[in-house]
Amino acid sequence: MESFVHTSHPSRVVFGTGTVTRLRKEVERLGCSRVLLLSSPPLAQAAARVREALGDLLVSEFDGAAMHTPVEVTEQALGLLRDTDADCVVAVGGGSTTGLSKALALRTGLPQVVLPTTYAGSEVTPVLGETRDGRKVTRSSPEILPETVVYDVDFTLTLPLSMTVTSGVNALAHAVEALYSPDADPVTDQHALDAISRIGRALPRLASDPADAAARADLLQAAWLAGTCLATVGMGLHHKLCHTLGGTFGLPHAETHTVVLPHAMAHNAPAVPDVMRRIADALGVPDAPGGVHDLVVSLGGPTSLRDLGMPESGLARAAELATSAPYPNPRDLTTEGIAELLAGAWHGRRPE
Ligand code: NAD
Repeated sequence: MESFVHTSHPSRVVFGTGTVTRLRKEVERLGCSRVLLLSSPPLAQAAARVREALGDLLVSEFDGAAMHTPVEVTEQALGLLRDTDADCVVAVGGGSTTGLSKALALRTGLPQVVLPTTYAGSEVTPVLGETRDGRKVTRSSPEILPETVVYDVDFTLTLPLSMTVTSGVNALAHAVEALYSPDADPVTDQHALDAISRIGRALPRLASDPADAAARADLLQAAWLAGTCLATVGMGLHHKLCHTLGGTFGLPHAETHTVVLPHAMAHNAPAVPDVMRRIADALGVPDAPGGVHDLVVSLGGPTSLRDLGMPESGLARAAELATSAPYPNPRDLTTEGIAELLAGAWHGRRPE
């Protein structure tokens, strides 16, 4: 008999189309009446709808969230939060805006309501990665987890196709690594496989019509499921590599996930052939790593670290950093093996 331990995180999820109209009730449900709204300039339209939904609950706004949550930006927003005596943070945006919301909640203990507009999945994890003096430090704690997530499919319709592809593959990466995590259990397995097949179905449909509302809903639901996997079980080689490449070399988050995923999968495949078979079946492809690479190519997504601005001279250092501390991964890791993986990803080769 299989034995396992499963932990669920206490977050409330409201999912649908037009759900922003339920935001005011969700804030009041948390006992709050003075909202600080976080957003970013590309989401001005969504922020206007949030403003309208909040009405007189809104007391201040900050639209300067930045990738990798720099502490200087958090301190600016914290000043505003305190000056306006806010008792709740509402964030509309991708993982960067969610990161700022989490950083504020960690410092103040205030509740958060997040309206995600990408597929990063951060909104359902108790994890925060912050950058101080160019170093990204990750921590996990219950105050970091947003109390409520309002998924409104309408807010994802404006996400450009290129970002839809890379953010969708970011979600795919959470689901893939959940399946071979040592903490995997039957619940996360089902969530992960459902997320993978939704992503495999939705992305090609969105490539032909980025406004396909049913495909957008599929992908957003996949993002929630994959984010839940990320929150529940430990990730492996792929996430470690992306963390290193993003934190130390400043590479963009979702794009880096997109380039590295097929290579990390190919590296781990010999150790977990059954998992790769289940992923291939969920995607409807003969071979999982090659199938993910081909999917990205067919969608016009990035395939090479070189094109993301990674210097070839940094590959050896990245391989060292990614193997410097042990972490669970189905295949034993060597600096030489990882250097080879990274060379394939740098050149944009199809993984064998
Ligand atoms: P992002 O939040 O940086 O967004 C990328 C760009 O897209 C931004 O300019 C944003 O304004 C714009 N954008 C977002 N949604 C849009 C929409 N619907 N329409 C038009 N433009 C839109 O990107 P991301 O990939 O969502 O988040 C990356 C960050 O999230 C990284 O810092 C990463 O470390 C973090 N992250 C954290 C976790 C976690 O669990 N802690 C999980 C995943 C990602």
